[in-house]
Amino acid sequence: RQTIRMLFGRKKRNPIKIPEKNVSEWKYSVCNYCSTGCSIELGLDDQGKVVTSRGVADADVNRGKLCIKGILEQELFESPGRGTVPLLRDNTDDAWQPSSWDDTLDRCAEKIKSIQQQYGPDSFAVVSTGQLLTEEFYTLGKLVRGCIGTNNYDGNTTLCMASAVSGYKRFFGSDGPPGCYEDFEHTECLMAFGSNLPEQHPIIYWRLKEAREKRHFPMIVIDPRVTMLAQWADIHLPITPGTDVVLLNSMMYVILNEGLEDAAYIEAHTEGIEALRETVSGYDPKTAQKICGIDEDTIRNVARIYAKAGSAMSIWTMGINQSTHGSDGVCNINNLNLITGNIGKPGGTSLSITGQCNAMGTREWSSCSGLPGYRLLENPKHREQVADFWNVDSDFFPEKVGLKQTDIFPAIETGQIKGMWLVATNPLTSMANQGRIRKIMEKLDFLIVQDVYQDVETVEFAHAYLPAAVWAEKQGCHTNTERRVNLTRNALPAYADSKPDFWIFNQMAKRFENSKRMQFPDDTESAFEEMKQLSKAEEGERRTLDISGMSYDLIEAKRGIQWPYRDEKASAGEDKGEPRLYTDGVFQTPTGKAKLICVNFVNNNECPDDEYPFWMNSGRVVEHFHTRTRTGKIGNINKFSPTPYMEMNPDAAAKMGLKAGDYVRAISRRGDAVAMVQLTQRVAPNMVFIPFHYHDCVNRLTLGLLDPYSRQPAFKQCAVKLERVDQAEAAELNKVRRQF
Ligand code: SF4
Repeated sequence: RQTIRMLFGRKKRNPIKIPEKNVSEWKYSVCNYCSTGCSIELGLDDQGKVVTSRGVADADVNRGKLCIKGILEQELFESPGRGTVPLLRDNTDDAWQPSSWDDTLDRCAEKIKSIQQQYGPDSFAVVSTGQLLTEEFYTLGKLVRGCIGTNNYDGNTTLCMASAVSGYKRFFGSDGPPGCYEDFEHTECLMAFGSNLPEQHPIIYWRLKEAREKRHFPMIVIDPRVTMLAQWADIHLPITPGTDVVLLNSMMYVILNEGLEDAAYIEAHTEGIEALRETVSGYDPKTAQKICGIDEDTIRNVARIYAKAGSAMSIWTMGINQSTHGSDGVCNINNLNLITGNIGKPGGTSLSITGQCNAMGTREWSSCSGLPGYRLLENPKHREQVADFWNVDSDFFPEKVGLKQTDIFPAIETGQIKGMWLVATNPLTSMANQGRIRKIMEKLDFLIVQDVYQDVETVEFAHAYLPAAVWAEKQGCHTNTERRVNLTRNALPAYADSKPDFWIFNQMAKRFENSKRMQFPDDTESAFEEMKQLSKAEEGERRTLDISGMSYDLIEAKRGIQWPYRDEKASAGEDKGEPRLYTDGVFQTPTGKAKLICVNFVNNNECPDDEYPFWMNSGRVVEHFHTRTRTGKIGNINKFSPTPYMEMNPDAAAKMGLKAGDYVRAISRRGDAVAMVQLTQRVAPNMVFIPFHYHDCVNRLTLGLLDPYSRQPAFKQCAVKLERVDQAEAAELNKVRRQF
């Protein structure tokens, strides 16, 4: 023993000591990055300063774990570039002038009204985000729908989740993911479409991995790139970009031809099977393989594995949604799950993994795509319900949804929209075809940017800047991917003279006539009480989005509650929401049955050709979030990939004489982007991949053709050519590109 001690130095051991943080109070919160919905506790010292954070051990979602972004999230509070005071200027060439909140909001309200008076109510657009608290979304919706009265109101969730929403609505009669993370513990087969969980949703991936370590079940990953998830899969299908509809139709061809469908479920709970049979009959695997690039035996094999599993689940993210037929792709995933009876049962589901932390909150309550609580503008009864509740005239509401974000920008280009209010979104980096977006922004008569950061790229085109509080400087709820409503407690006051978005919306509302008749609660908890009342179903209605049994204290105590959670349940002392929707097979369509919808493949992608020989693919990396407005500010995160890079296959690189670390200029029909080459077999020789997070980079190349139903852009499919540039040229190109 003595020898061992001497060898390993245990006698003199000097263990690493984690410095004491002197935490005097822990505040409960939820991570404000991705939609996993991890519970976090923030540690405050006796001066009220946040000094550390930790994952919450008894939270069912993350069970004490956090990914790199969550672990370092408390560094956001004092990160560089934060807005300190409101700013105003007449022209975008002028210097910013600091202003008071009253003067700034007066000026913004006066400009909104004058633009609407001159050009009509819809000439002013509002575009928000998936990053606010749910009560803030609800209040913004109340302000826009009830007071400002423009119908051109949307969220940046159109860039990521709109196809999933559209697919759910078309099938089940309502939005709302039917499954949950616990399904990993029950499923007998998981199929992941265009979803790289370990980088996009690391803690959901950890839940999946843990479930597979306890009980192995087949995992099939469909992705053109050998992603981290694909590396862990039993079967990886490196599909030709944009052909998922063909693969899914062909799988259903096999299932229906071989009698592997769940006939009893189809009969009892769906409609449209005959038309679906006929459609998929044109997609035999022999023909399909030539389009989707997956050989016919593999198509048959995965179709049989999926259909024969006692329960099987599909998950997907942007690989499906960000496509010219994203909504059709979602429909086909739903078709597959319905004909195999995999909806509403443990381990059998069709689960869209949402993008932003509160993309669900905006879908549920912001009124962007209708009215609160998944109500529809097109439904007169819904308009009446909300108008009565808010005390506005129902005629004030439009009778159908206005333009989506991706149609708002072209409407600015054509002069239909003259002013815009952007809330926590950064189109100068996030929208496709950046050259065009820059020119469009220049045409605005008045632009308001409300954001935590004053140095966010879009501020360059703004006339008013409203500094917002970040995350736990506020109090309110998020809803995560599995419909779990969770709470962020207000840990510390807003930075400098920034204000919570909730306060800004309330103050803006006071400047509009209708607000005199309406009630705008002073605090988010009271707004939540309003939402609870609105979430209840009226006589004869079926409403799954019911949060009436929830309260802030109960949500915190239970570390989040999944909706529906009705007040009858709370009164009966049951403290858990419903993990799954449609367990009874009754859907929110007029007949109560889910609609099977036939989709055919239409090839309208921009594909590689002799002139532009590479597929261009884009996506997320684990250390960054969206346009890096936050993660780019945190040194211990940013250091992993501080500059744009491009994944390239070594064989393709060798042909061009390129090696790792060289710079290339990628050129599409829209623009160019400079990135550093990273050699990897993750991409095929005819494909390159650039993370989407960087300003002035991949979205200078993207085409962004829109899905006809969801209006979501195809960020992931376009064609590029490559040119080698040296470091000096790369620097020069980046400098020149910033000038136009
Ligand atoms: Fe936050 Fe998502 Fe990471 Fe969880 S997985 S800590 S929610 S970024």
